Parts: sequence; C-alpha cells; structure tokens
Amino acid sequence: MPAEALQRRRVITVFLIEGIAGLCILLTLTWLRREQTAAILHALGPNAAILIAILAAFTAAMTLLRFELTEVIYVSLVATACITAFPLLGPVLGCWVAVSASIAARLISLLRKPKRNLEEVIRIVPGLFAIYGVPLIAASMVYERLGGELPLLHATPQAAMRVAGSGIVLILMNNLMMFMPARAYGYSAAQVLRLDSLDSSIYLLTLPYAVTTSLAYGSIGWGGVLALAFTGGVANFVAGNLAILRTKSQGQLQRLASLTNIGKTISLRYTTDQLLMAIYTECKKIVDCSLFTIALLDESTNELSFELDVRDLVFLPKDRIPVGEGLNSWVVKHHQPLLVGSVADEKRFGVKAIADTKKTESWLGVPMIARDRVIGVISVESYRKHAFKHDDMILLTAIANQAAVAIENQQLYKDLEGLTYALEARVMDRTNELREANLRLMAADRSKNQFLANMSHELRTPLNSIIGFSSVLLESTRTTIAPRLYKFLENIHAAGNHLLELINDILDLSKIEAGKMELRPDVFDLHETLAAVERVMRGFASEANVRIVSFIDADVPKVRLDEGRLKQILFNLLSNAVKFSPNGGPVEVAVRRVPKATSPIGAEAVRIDVQDQGIGIPPDELQRIFDEFYQTEDGRRSRRGGTGLGLSLTRNFVELHHGTIEVQSTPGKGSCFTLYLPVNYDDSVPVPPMRAPRPAARVAPPSA
Ligand code: ADP
Repeated sequence: MPAEALQRRRVITVFLIEGIAGLCILLTLTWLRREQTAAILHALGPNAAILIAILAAFTAAMTLLRFELTEVIYVSLVATACITAFPLLGPVLGCWVAVSASIAARLISLLRKPKRNLEEVIRIVPGLFAIYGVPLIAASMVYERLGGELPLLHATPQAAMRVAGSGIVLILMNNLMMFMPARAYGYSAAQVLRLDSLDSSIYLLTLPYAVTTSLAYGSIGWGGVLALAFTGGVANFVAGNLAILRTKSQGQLQRLASLTNIGKTISLRYTTDQLLMAIYTECKKIVDCSLFTIALLDESTNELSFELDVRDLVFLPKDRIPVGEGLNSWVVKHHQPLLVGSVADEKRFGVKAIADTKKTESWLGVPMIARDRVIGVISVESYRKHAFKHDDMILLTAIANQAAVAIENQQLYKDLEGLTYALEARVMDRTNELREANLRLMAADRSKNQFLANMSHELRTPLNSIIGFSSVLLESTRTTIAPRLYKFLENIHAAGNHLLELINDILDLSKIEAGKMELRPDVFDLHETLAAVERVMRGFASEANVRIVSFIDADVPKVRLDEGRLKQILFNLLSNAVKFSPNGGPVEVAVRRVPKATSPIGAEAVRIDVQDQGIGIPPDELQRIFDEFYQTEDGRRSRRGGTGLGLSLTRNFVELHHGTIEVQSTPGKGSCFTLYLPVNYDDSVPVPPMRAPRPAARVAPPSA
C-alpha cells in the first residue's frame, strides 16, 4: 500500500476512535446529567431557546469563518464558542449545541466542494465530538469543581476567573485531542507542540472575549450575548478577509518578483532553447505548469512549431502542426489570449482543442507579440476545471510579451551576426583585390619609370645632335640660305630645345615620383645666383618686351641649398611671369631674410616673391595649377606654349628642400608666387616620396 494511503488510513482510524469515544462519553453524560440539564433549562426559562439559537449560530459562524493567520497559525474560533457555551448551557446541552452546530456548518461547506472524501467526513462526524465535545465536557467538570454557577447568572470577578480557568482547560484539551491526529498526519511530537503553542497565541485575545460573552448573560441578558457573539463574528470575518488579502498580496508580490526575474533572465543572451527553458522555469514558479507549451510561428510554412512541450514534467520531442484548427491556432489568428475553463466551454466559445491523449479541462493560451506580429503562443493546461483565473492570463501575457521581445531580439542579433560575417568577408575580399591591384600598379609604375628613364636617354642623344647641328647650321648659314629656309632652321632649333626641356622635366618628375631625386646642397650666395638667372632670362624678357626688376635684402645670408634646382625654380617662375605679362609689364623678384621666429617653415628662411602684372589666375583654378600638365583656360587661349609641368616640378623642388610655396592672384591684375626656403637645408630629415595625386599647394586668397 502506498505511504499516502497508509497515512490516510491512520488518520481515519484515530479520528474514528477518538470521535466514537467522545460521542459515547457525551451520550453517557446526557443520561447521567439529565436532571441537571433540565434544571439549567428551567433556570433559563424562555431564554433557553434564544440562547441555544445564538450559541448555535455563533458556533456555526466561527466554524465557517476559520482562516489562516500565518502559514502556521490556523484560526478557528469554535473553541471560543465552546468556552462561551458551557457556563450558560452546562456540559450536556453546551456540548450538543456547539458540536452539532459545528458539524452542520462543516458538512454544509463540504457539500459545496467538488471533491469529497471519507477522511473529511470522518474528521467531521464523529471527529468533532472528540475535538470540541470532549474538551467542552472536561472544561465543564473543572468549572463545576471550581464552584461555578450553572447556568451563569451572576457576573462577578470570581465567576470570570472560573470561566477563564476552565476555558484554559478546554484549550489544552482541544490541543490534546488534536495530538494523535497530528501525529497520524506525520508531524513529530515536537512539531505538534510548537504548532500548538503558536496556535494557542490567538486565545490570548479570544479567551477574555469568551469569558466576557458568557458573563454578559448574567448582567445584560441574551441581548448582550448576541451583541458580543455578533461582534466576534464580524471581527473574525474582517480578520479573515485581511488575512486572505495579505496572502493574496504576498502572492502578487511573488508574481511581480518572478515577472521581474523573467525580464532579467530572458534579456540575457541565450540560445533559443535556453531562452525557452528559462521562460518555462520562471513560469513554473507562479502558474500551474504541469502541462506547458511554447509554440513558435513559422511564417514560411504557416506552421506552429512546438519548441517546448512539457506534459506532467515529461519533455516531449519538438513537433509541428499546421496553423488551422485548435486552440493555439485560434490565439495566432485572433492575436488574443484564450481562457477556456472546461471542455464544455470549448463548445460555448466555438473553439476546438486538437484531440489529445490527456483529458484536460482548463486551457490558457496567450500570444507572443513582437512589433505587432504574433510570433508564437505560450499555453498552460490543467486537468481541473477553471484552474486558471483572469490574473493568470494577465501574468502569462506579460511574460509572453517579454519573451516575444527576447526571441525577436535574438533573431535580429542572429541576422546581424550573419550580416556582419558577410560584410567582413566582403571587406576581406575587397582588401585582397585592392592589395593585388596595388601590387600590379606598383609594378606598372616601376615599368613606367624604367621606360621613361630609358626613353629619355634614347631621345636625348639624337635630340642633342639635332639641337647641336641646327645651332651650327644657324650660325653658319645666316647669310647664305634663303630667309624662308633659315626660318625653318630656327623652328627646328626651337622645337628641339622645347622637346629637350620637356624630356628633362618628365625625367625629373619620374625621379621625384620614384623617390630617387636627390638634392646636392652647397653653400652659395643668392646675389650671384639671382644675377645669373636674370642674365639668362634677360634675352627672353626683352623679346617679350618685359622688364625684370630684382631686389635682394642686404641681410640675406649665404644659403646651403641645391643651387641647380633653385635656378630651375626661378627659371620656371620667371618664365611664367614673363610669358603671361602684357607688353611692357614689369616682373619683380624680391628676396628677403625671414628669422626663425616668424618663419612658416620653423627654421631661418629666405622668402622669394615673383610678382607680375599679367593675366592672373582665376580663383577656381588656383588649386590646380600645381598639378602635372595642368594649364589654365586663359593660359591655353593665350597660346604662349608650355607643358604644364613647370609649377609641378617647382613645388616638388621647394618641398624637397622642406620649403613651401603659395600663390596669390587676381585675374587681369597679376600673380605673386611666394616661396620660403630654409637658409640651411637639413639633408638628415627625410622627405616623403611624391604621392599621386599630389595635394594642392598652399593657396592664399587673391589680393585685392
Ligand atoms: P606651363 O609650362 O604651361 O607654364 P606651369 O606648370 O609652369 O606650365 O604652369 C601651369 C599653368 O599655370 C600655366 O599654363 C598657366 O596657365 C598658369 N600660370 C603659371 N604661372 C602663371 C602666371 N604668372 N600668370 C598667369 N598664369 C600662370
């Protein structure tokens, strides 16, 4: 026989033995004390019936209004009613009234319960004869021994003491009668004693009340007993409700705590299975979850995938059903929770559960909604009718909403992870492609430089012959050949020179690009350099009818720079200034010393300005004139020749010297190129190789 059945049998036996013994004692006493009972009834006169009715109603009310004050203190004031009854009705009448009213009330409340069992019936009849009957008889005996008046018609302090004393006996006897059944329920003797002492604490309050109610008859009459009994009933009712409210609010708090916990748990980054398991674990704490499912909606197949299905603590394998019939599908389609109290309700709501092996009655399902879409359903089932309340629905909905967001987030996170991987892979591919392209470009660049170097060399040799021989011919045939042919010779000579210049420029640029341009710094006097440049430029300038005016500050020191490259810089700037100047326009060259403190290049410098009053450069083209092969619109239209390489080379040479160059220009009024070069070129500082495309040179705003 299972342990539970054995225990039930023991409990029934104890109640049966104790109860029958109690009933026998009462029957015997009824016979033996029949005269005393008649005398009490006589003394009470017409009030006897009223008192019996009041005390019976009071006992019944106390039986029905019992409640749990705490988890261990179970308040039943029937004993209080018994204490009130025996001094007024005597042991026999008091016992019959109290016990039968209590039995009647308990039986009525038992009838309202769906499940009734033998154990409970025996606990009531004859059990209550033992639990209340025997203590009441024992208390009456003590009361009589103490010289108590029956019925109690004179309210005196002595009478009160006697009732109180025998009341205590009643309470003790009540505990004693409950001792054996409690042991049969499996409590240890120590536990029973502890619970009894806790339980008895309520009598500190009710014993004085019972004594006062008994005494009330002697001083006030039955109205006093009724008033006090009624007050006791109401007080008990209020206290009971408060206790229930407290239990409920504790339950709500527990639910709130669990809900917060769920929020915390499911916001952690879990796998979907772990997440669903966490939801189940938390739900279990607050809702009856012996039958629990979480189904996710698979929109691609329009199926419900049961990711978690727990039946009586057994985890079933995952399963899928098409969205169609059934309660879960109803929730998905209606976007609403569904609470079915019983199988009969299913018909009433017009919903139908899918045939199931388990005979369940109640069903509660709530949708998991994320961003206005139902992504699944959480459902619980029970074998009991109306097992789930509206509260459960609210709670489960809150859980489902949190779960939906967590699942959705997880899905988004997964998608994002996938995208990140794809993006990373693409970036890797692109990087590799770029690296390869870069390698190819570097190889092509090397080939180009090599080609340029070779080609320039190959071109320069025949060009030198052309220039040399045409020059000799020009000298020797000035007067001997026809002027038209002489002009041709001059053209050949000029074209040859131009070509050589171009080749030299290209060669210089490719050297700079390859980082192979090396400066040869030397100490020299700028006065002499400037004079030499001027000498060379003079012929060219006078041809263009342009005056070159030069000025050099007396304190300009000797410099250590690459003189050849500086001359190239000055030639470029001056030939541009002359080229783009109007007839007779002056070109000024000024050289000044700039101390370190005010030098823009952070070292003692010389500043060289080359200024003309020529065509000028439009502001939008100022940025570009230093680019290779760039020529301004106006420059090209004026047909003054050139290659567009001069300024690019100039800037490179300046920067190789760690200097700067800038330009100010006003179209139609002229331009001024300003460069700063260190007095002492420091060749220990490396110059970064030329990058393509070059950043624009510093451009100052046009002068007014
Ligand atoms: P180019 O051989 O064409 O002179 P540069 O690189 O020296 O090549 O000059 C580039 C362009 O800048 C010129 O074609 C011209 O359009 C413009 N430029 C340079 N210097 C001046 C100047 N002093 N006045 C007007 N335009 C100029």
